Amino acid sequence: MYENLTLYIDGKFIAAEGRHTQPVVNPANREVLGHLPHATEEDLQAALEAADRAFQSWKHSNPMDRAAILRKVGELTRERAKDIARNLTLDQGKPFSEALGELVSCADHADWHAEECRRIYGRIITPRSPNVRQMVLREPIGVCVAFTPWNFPYNQAIRKVCAAIGAGCTIVLKGPEDSPSAVMAIAKMFHDAGLPPGVLNLVWGDPPKVSDYLIRSPISRKVSFTGSVPVGKQLAALAGAHMKRVTMELGGHSPVLVFDDADIEKAAKMLAKFKIRNAGQVCVSPTRFYVQRKAYDKFLAAFTDVLKGIKTGDGLEEGTEMGPLAHERRIPSISRFIEDARARGGDVILGGDPIEGKGFFFPPTVVTNLPDDSMLMTEEPFGPVAPVVAFDDTEEVIKKANSLPFGLSSYVFTNSLQTATRVSNALEVGMVNINHFGSALPETPFGGVKDSGIGSEGGSETFDGYLVTKFVTHV
Ligand code: NAD
Repeated sequence: MYENLTLYIDGKFIAAEGRHTQPVVNPANREVLGHLPHATEEDLQAALEAADRAFQSWKHSNPMDRAAILRKVGELTRERAKDIARNLTLDQGKPFSEALGELVSCADHADWHAEECRRIYGRIITPRSPNVRQMVLREPIGVCVAFTPWNFPYNQAIRKVCAAIGAGCTIVLKGPEDSPSAVMAIAKMFHDAGLPPGVLNLVWGDPPKVSDYLIRSPISRKVSFTGSVPVGKQLAALAGAHMKRVTMELGGHSPVLVFDDADIEKAAKMLAKFKIRNAGQVCVSPTRFYVQRKAYDKFLAAFTDVLKGIKTGDGLEEGTEMGPLAHERRIPSISRFIEDARARGGDVILGGDPIEGKGFFFPPTVVTNLPDDSMLMTEEPFGPVAPVVAFDDTEEVIKKANSLPFGLSSYVFTNSLQTATRVSNALEVGMVNINHFGSALPETPFGGVKDSGIGSEGGSETFDGYLVTKFVTHV
């Protein structure tokens, strides 16, 4: 059975009951899975007021009690993982094994926040006079509003919810309307884990209308968004106009630097598999492939070879390695990149056109001979498309890697410690992965610089965006 879709406000699950609804579609076959109720303005106001009421007591809650709820959510995530993952595949498209992987890793996120929220410390500052005491307190910022996307529906939401709740904040969350089941499951889990009413509220609707209402409200104190750079900038500007704190996890255009001293075959195979993860709809997806000239042909052959053999299909079918794109808008969006590549003289050596049929399928695609200023080399494709170009020396490739306004993740393959150090110091990004893929663990910070965002999620930094600093001094 697909998830029952409702709003969740002040501890109550609220069905459509005459509200506007939108159909939720399976991207593998266009079947309608359910109908999602949109919140009215009264619902949004009720959610904000419930979060405000709940904050008055939740801000004083014992961190051990908060930790117990978060641990319980971790347990429930593991218990319910298979059902939630199945629904995630149905409404988002990713292969079931990937959906299950997302769920299991998220149980670790809940556990991490349960542990870390017991370690929110202040500090004592040595006074200038012996009878003065100076203390720095860290207090929850207040009611948070959060907007999470459809590519990792469970992961993107659980990180924000656990950080807010663990810090002692309350939250109104708008999940992804295209793929809502996993976020719905999060609300049920917190409810079943005994979270007091109003601490977490879940709403759906027209994204710009909902975000505008929630951010402008004098009740909300903090805005957290994961999504594209243009939308992130709009929301950050609105938050700035109302002097609200932001955490922005935005798009990327991750450069991949493959040096000729690396294990080329291994790098090509690893990168090909990583590229098609979630059909390339990953903000940290390897995006621009720069390969040192001596290794270029070998890399391209091995990389294309793996991508040629990828089994694309319905994520619930045994053996599927790549599912459809998450929604219909993605197909024309990716096709525009390919049109531009062809017009700019690029060679599409694999894939390039949508797969005919009922679902929103796009094949693994490799493009070569692209100029640096083509769309694919400068804008986020957010799909299974890989431009591969050659470079000659380290200085040149560092300059190219840093040439875009994005600064999220990056990938480097080399067997030289000197090159690894030189490049990781020089890259203007939030994350550098050298010879492996190791980002997005609960215990490691995740976030970007430049246009890719503000702030980190995860790691010991995870509560920073949800706490304010108060200085107290007395004699
Ligand atoms: P989009 O920018 O319209 O939407 C991205 C997400 O933001 C969606 O979940 C959407 O509901 C939400 N959104 C859009 N406008 C909003 C608003 N005014 N207020 C609040 N939320 C809003 O793009 P899309 O076509 O759905 O996705 C494509 C692009 O989004 C990609 O190219 C990629 O850059 C970006 N994206 C990034 C991530 C990420 O993890 N950083 C995730 C999903 C999408």
